[in-house]
Amino acid sequence: MKFSWKNLLLWSLPLIVISFFIWQGLFAPITNDNNNIANSRMTYGRFLEYIDMGWVKKVDLYENGHTAIIEAVGPELGNRIQKIRVELPITAPELITKIKNQGIDLDAHPIKNNTAIWNLIGNLFFPLLLITSLILLFRRSNNSTGGPGQAMSFGKSKALFQIEAKTGVIFDDVAGIDEAKEEFEEIVTFLKKPEYFTAVGARIPKGVLLIGPPGTGKTLLAKAIAGEANVPFFSISGSEFVEMFVGVGASRVRDLFKKAKENAPCIIFIDEIDAVGRQRGTGIGGGNDEREQTLNQLLTEMDGFEGNTGIIVIAATNRADILDSALLRPGRFDRQVNVDIPDFKGRLEILNVHARNKKIDPKVSLSIIARRTPGFSGADLANLLNEAAILTAKARKNQMTLQEIDKAIDRIIAGMEGTALVDSKSKRLIAYHEVGHAIIGTLLEDHENVQKVTLIPRGQARGLTWFTPSEDQSLISRSQIKARIMGALGGRVAEEIVFGESEITTGASNDLQQVTSMARQMVTRFGMSQIGPLSLENEGSNPFLGRGMGNSNEYSDEIAVKIDQQVKYIVEECYNKTIEMIKNNRIIIDKLVDILIEKETIEGEEFRRIIEQYTEIPTKA
Ligand code: ADP
Ligand code: ZN
Repeated sequence: MKFSWKNLLLWSLPLIVISFFIWQGLFAPITNDNNNIANSRMTYGRFLEYIDMGWVKKVDLYENGHTAIIEAVGPELGNRIQKIRVELPITAPELITKIKNQGIDLDAHPIKNNTAIWNLIGNLFFPLLLITSLILLFRRSNNSTGGPGQAMSFGKSKALFQIEAKTGVIFDDVAGIDEAKEEFEEIVTFLKKPEYFTAVGARIPKGVLLIGPPGTGKTLLAKAIAGEANVPFFSISGSEFVEMFVGVGASRVRDLFKKAKENAPCIIFIDEIDAVGRQRGTGIGGGNDEREQTLNQLLTEMDGFEGNTGIIVIAATNRADILDSALLRPGRFDRQVNVDIPDFKGRLEILNVHARNKKIDPKVSLSIIARRTPGFSGADLANLLNEAAILTAKARKNQMTLQEIDKAIDRIIAGMEGTALVDSKSKRLIAYHEVGHAIIGTLLEDHENVQKVTLIPRGQARGLTWFTPSEDQSLISRSQIKARIMGALGGRVAEEIVFGESEITTGASNDLQQVTSMARQMVTRFGMSQIGPLSLENEGSNPFLGRGMGNSNEYSDEIAVKIDQQVKYIVEECYNKTIEMIKNNRIIIDKLVDILIEKETIEGEEFRRIIEQYTEIPTKA
């Protein structure tokens, strides 16, 4: 990016605006309070009358003739000479003549000296600020970029990349991802004692790719390696390249490696590498030259240093499948480490790490929390304990109890709590909807247990039914999926049966989305329909992301029609069964709704106790 006036303008505009406001705020009041001696005021019209009546004795003009302080006597003024302030709309020459004709003492006052200085400073303020910032800008870009022509680039106004001399993170701070940790211990040894490896001619990988969903601790792990080996940590995010102008990304990569070489041994961490490292030449959106240049530069740099220079490049992504294969070739990111969402044991370990610096009631069992949070990433768990700590402080408690932790879990899963509706038809409808979900969930053997039903809104939801998630979510049977579909349909079906078809609401849209998605996956991914055991769609195939464009779903139109038929068939079957169940249990449902409206929340235990008075609940697996 070359120097251009456009850039200069873009950069300086916000500064000018800011400095203008600062100036207004700081200096403008000072210029104004020069003649506040007169407390009483008079309109211009009244002033003219006073002149005509001969009551005005003296006129002093201020602010270039916009304000006058007059001395006048008159019956209205108790026949005493008083100073009065008059705002003059325009400095009319007639006024001056009039004053002179009446023989009134007239004086005009220039703006006071110190005011003039302030005004001068005010006027110089933003040019000075602008010049200073430009100097700073030039300095900064000269320090950090290689080559000319980079000075004014926009991207340069941000830090180029982050450098941490000491991350302070150690392996003990990372929990629940043991396999990944083991892989890295060897790298730490290499960084500390490269001679062990070079002596026997071993080549240490230059690049390690960490693959896993967001928040699983990839950055943390990379930092821990730097921390354990006591080497500097250079980091940059792939997404930062994409927003930049052509050529900036590549030069930034060059700078990054140059700096890293000067500081070797060290770790270079590239977060979200998929943003730059996506398959080249898929041509979506006309291709992205900037990205390709950046990627090429990255490949060049990685090839350019020897394995034993002591630089290790660690990159993170949640999608290795879309990466350009050139990146994965030997000598580049030839080692791949998976970092997954933690299981129960992992969650417990992570909770232990983050509980270290918190005051928690000894009665709280972290394993119960770990049990309640399947699917939570390390970042979610850290966030959970932090939320709970905030709630504890708010409640003026000195120890975190299960109550705050429960609240924090709910908040993270479903957003902030609102207040319940006042009793109304829509509150009843929501109550029926939620009870519909909950009763189906309770009466189906293959459905998870109800944890609680509530009418207290949260986030987008106006009422909620919570189910106790089962630990093992990896293998789910056909009847479990069907049970979930029926449970999700329960809300809408209850609305329909109680209030009639014309009264059903939009409240079920989210449920229906889930229903459709589950049914579709049964057909296209799990081979659970009459089409047979075929996999017709790839997991997570995304038509917007490069590879596999247009051919991720390799089936004919004929099959497409069949898929739709099967999806419809599954949903209809579940729907009819749900209607039957809701109808058969109408009395219990009415009873539950009354209780729910009164109490607003029913816990799972109590919910089941009420149902048991009427019907038998199957024991769950
Ligand atoms: P990622 O890079 O995978 O998106 P981060 O490393 O940025 O995730 O994780 C964010 C935060 O979540 C970390 O700073 C840490 O507090 C917490 N965290 C995530 N995973 C773990 C873990 N395995 N052990 C301990 N803390 C973790
Ligand atoms: Zn619902």
